[in-house]
Amino acid sequence: MRIRPVLLVALLLPLAAQSASVTAQGGNPAQSVVASERAIRRDMPMTNTIRRAFDAGTRDRTGRPGPNYWQLEADYTIQVRLDPASQTLTGTETILVHNNSPMALNEIMLRLDHNIFRGLVPRGLSVPAENTEGMVVTRLVVNGEEVNLTLPAAGGRRGGGAPAGRTTTASGLDQTLARISLAAPVAAKSTAKLEIAWRTKLPGGSGGRGHRMTQRFDDILFQPTQWFPRVAKFDDLRGWDTSLYLGPAEFYNNFGRFDVSIDVPGGWIVSGTGVLQNPQQVLTAAARERLAKVLDSDEITTIVGPDEIGPGQATAPGDRLVWRFVADKVNDFAWATARKFVWQATRATIPGKGPVPIHMVFLPERANLFAKAGPITRHALEFYSKLWAPYPFPQLTLQDGPSAGMEYPMVINSNQGAADHEAAHQWWPMMVGTNETRYGWMDEGFNQYMNVLSGADARGVPPNLNSLGQAYGRTSGNEDEAPMMWSANDAGSMYGFQTYSKTPLMLSMLGGVVGDEAVQKAMSEYTKVWSYKHPSPWDYAFFMNSQLKQDLGWFWYYWLWTTESVDGSIANVTTSGGRTIVTVRQDGQMPSPVVLKVQLAAGAAPLKVVNPRGPNAPTMKIVDERTALVTWPVEVWFSGSRTFQAELDFGPGPIETIQLDPACRFPDRDPSDNVWPRPAPAGTGATPAQRAGTCEG
Ligand SMILES: [Zn+2]
Repeated sequence: MRIRPVLLVALLLPLAAQSASVTAQGGNPAQSVVASERAIRRDMPMTNTIRRAFDAGTRDRTGRPGPNYWQLEADYTIQVRLDPASQTLTGTETILVHNNSPMALNEIMLRLDHNIFRGLVPRGLSVPAENTEGMVVTRLVVNGEEVNLTLPAAGGRRGGGAPAGRTTTASGLDQTLARISLAAPVAAKSTAKLEIAWRTKLPGGSGGRGHRMTQRFDDILFQPTQWFPRVAKFDDLRGWDTSLYLGPAEFYNNFGRFDVSIDVPGGWIVSGTGVLQNPQQVLTAAARERLAKVLDSDEITTIVGPDEIGPGQATAPGDRLVWRFVADKVNDFAWATARKFVWQATRATIPGKGPVPIHMVFLPERANLFAKAGPITRHALEFYSKLWAPYPFPQLTLQDGPSAGMEYPMVINSNQGAADHEAAHQWWPMMVGTNETRYGWMDEGFNQYMNVLSGADARGVPPNLNSLGQAYGRTSGNEDEAPMMWSANDAGSMYGFQTYSKTPLMLSMLGGVVGDEAVQKAMSEYTKVWSYKHPSPWDYAFFMNSQLKQDLGWFWYYWLWTTESVDGSIANVTTSGGRTIVTVRQDGQMPSPVVLKVQLAAGAAPLKVVNPRGPNAPTMKIVDERTALVTWPVEVWFSGSRTFQAELDFGPGPIETIQLDPACRFPDRDPSDNVWPRPAPAGTGATPAQRAGTCEG
């Protein structure tokens, strides 16, 4: 989903000197030792969760799925009927739960997200305009055993599996997460069958807050999402995922096959995840003919126009029509329907695959919101296919409605405004099934980064990732910011920054360390390796280390587990006999490579490459005959000093200026101390750009 970036106020705090001395404990209390100025952590914390997976061989330090990797899958067959007059969906479904884990399941957790529309459940900042009775489960059968829904569950809501010989029970059916305690466990490598009957009213009204909290325009358009009971995720990291659905943070779903039959009044057009199986039964002959030509060109084809309304015109004749959609391997299913949808279509051409249709359904009076949606979506699907991996699905549909910025497999609830961002979600989390509830940055954060690249490509200019990394220094230190490894579901007031805004800043710095192209190439491999699987942050970080062929433990530690910055500066410059010593200082806890842009004065002898030896020797790139970029690796900080003496030997020519981190990739609270000689202070006519130096390098 898409939200406005959170505006953040820079906190400028005085920096205390960080040197410290401690008294040694034990044998000789009189002896004192000087602690290092800065202890740099160079590895990632391993929690019990990831240790367990390593021990089981389901994941490992290659960052690829381990030899024993497994995941649950769930196949859904759903029949649902919409009654527009009562705004209610009534459904029956069969779920086949394939327990591919090596352990028996004593219980099954069921997600009933629509219970968020009841008043008395925990909620985040999302609030519906209308409260409903939520998801009402009217029948539940587990492996042929009918569960008595009127009895209180044995053992209460937190109870474990029912003892052998007892009956299967369910608890928490009025919450967003319910527990089915099984009389007989689901054995490893076997399949359980759930049959559920249910109903839910789709909430409407105005004044709600948050995507997914309003699902209809009166009784003329319905946009159901999270609309059916589904099985929660059970994985090798934590077992059952018991994070509550609170509204803002998103989902963690099983992949599986969906076969969904949607019963609506005749004349109502239905769009959704998957491929329509019965166009002969629900479409007019004219619509089928128009559809057959969609893949022939980039033109926008109108399948059902604004003047084609009702049974026999918009759709095949009949009081009620059942639209059947099938999707082979997806992690959710969304749909929309309206009495007066205009239906248009065009195509995107996927490299190595060929054309796929892009459908758009919208109310005729909102056509202007979709005027540019086709070309924007085509560009997104084609660009991201080249960037990461080819778009894998057989179609993409843009659906109009009150929620205009949400993503589902093959479906985006979006007009042209968020089309690029929502289309990008087809890669994350629709292909790479991230746990968005906990690690929203692996979904929304990566998405924000790829939107920068796509936006530049659409404008025909190179992407500019400079300055993003540096900007994080203005946020670092804010006590309200949860580290990225903190569950996004509990991220508090800076959820938007943690989940959306910080990742492009992190990847800007990573590009400053290894190069942007290398970052993107590694992430393309990551996308392919984890397609239709569920990577954790450790898998991502270890995979990037191995693709980038360096141990970036220090980088991941500071970005993912802390809210620290680099805070670099040039503390002093001395020159004697053609040798210049630049004293670089880092006041933050996060280290970074030292990059100096050196500009020689006019008339100086031309630069030549100097290449000192040694493990921490600098590399030098000549930009022009007066300008060089000299880089020392991050390792120069690992001994614990806060200052580093960078030695430049360019012969007798005078140095005109030196700029630290000229591409502005490393988080910095105050970039004005990155240039030498120091520019005029504020208030003396120097512009902020002169004071901080421009961001190019
Ligand atoms: Zn999003």
